[in-house]
Amino acid sequence: MLAVWFREEAAPGHAVEWRVRRSLFSGRSDFQTIDVLELESFGRALVLDGIMQTTTDDEFIYHEMLAHVPLLAHPTPRRVCIIGGGDGGLAREVLRHHEVRHVVMVEIDRMVVEVAKKFLPAHTAALSDCRLVIHYADGAAFLRDLPSNERFDVILVDSTDPEGTGPGNWLYTPEFHRHVRDALNPGGIFAQQTGTPFFNPEVVQRVGQSVGERFAWAGVYWSVVPSYPGGFFTFAVGSLGPAVDAPRREANWPTAWYTGAIHRLAFSLPPYLSRTLPAGLANGGRARVNPQR
Ligand code: SAM
Repeated sequence: MLAVWFREEAAPGHAVEWRVRRSLFSGRSDFQTIDVLELESFGRALVLDGIMQTTTDDEFIYHEMLAHVPLLAHPTPRRVCIIGGGDGGLAREVLRHHEVRHVVMVEIDRMVVEVAKKFLPAHTAALSDCRLVIHYADGAAFLRDLPSNERFDVILVDSTDPEGTGPGNWLYTPEFHRHVRDALNPGGIFAQQTGTPFFNPEVVQRVGQSVGERFAWAGVYWSVVPSYPGGFFTFAVGSLGPAVDAPRREANWPTAWYTGAIHRLAFSLPPYLSRTLPAGLANGGRARVNPQR
């Protein structure tokens, strides 16, 4: 029988392929195409607009690193906002923190959540947690219009990449980062996925510049994510208070990737990347603050 392959064009002239056992779902929402594939390797995969989002075999790495680095660097993260995250994996990791009392997940596409609930049960295991509220809306508009009496201790952006005309684009602008900063409580921390710098360095450079101009402390950290092109993946982080490049608390549950040592190591960037970032941003430096921007 002819093998079927899912192919993602990671960059001009470079593609990644996964052999498909079977397609479990294929559909289109108002925002994107949505596929769930059962792969020969990596388990099940969620694919949006033909781009790999998450797989059951390696999602623990990405979700632990996006959740636990900012949350364990914050002394008392009570209120958390997730922008995107429709597969549920990030919410599951955030809700492991008993300090967290309230999580608002702002996901633009209800169909992604419904499909994940049906086909990715390990990802969505915590979506029934009573501390979690899901808003089906654009995260950029949500923060822009946030009532002045609603603020968060940690804001995490787990969105699709800022490519093409998709809604992920709206979450990678200086205006959005200004609304993020204004939506944080004093001492608040913000983190955002900034993609694979080997193929698309412009994203981490652009976000690093924007976050560095708006937060007292800013940095970039990295992780290995095998199912993302090139495996080397980055996150940008900004803080209104504490430095984020070391944990203040330990994870008191079993993790599969995150440790305090990996937390610290993650902020040590290879020179080829750090020298392309704004001064004071690489390796967890204090970025200049430009509060009026
Ligand atoms: N881990 C993946 C990554 O790093 O590419 C992200 C996975 S998660 C499924 C991405 C989610 O972001 C999708 O469900 C998508 O609908 C959502 N999203 C994209 N733009 C958004 C926006 N402006 N507001 C809220 N959610 C958004």
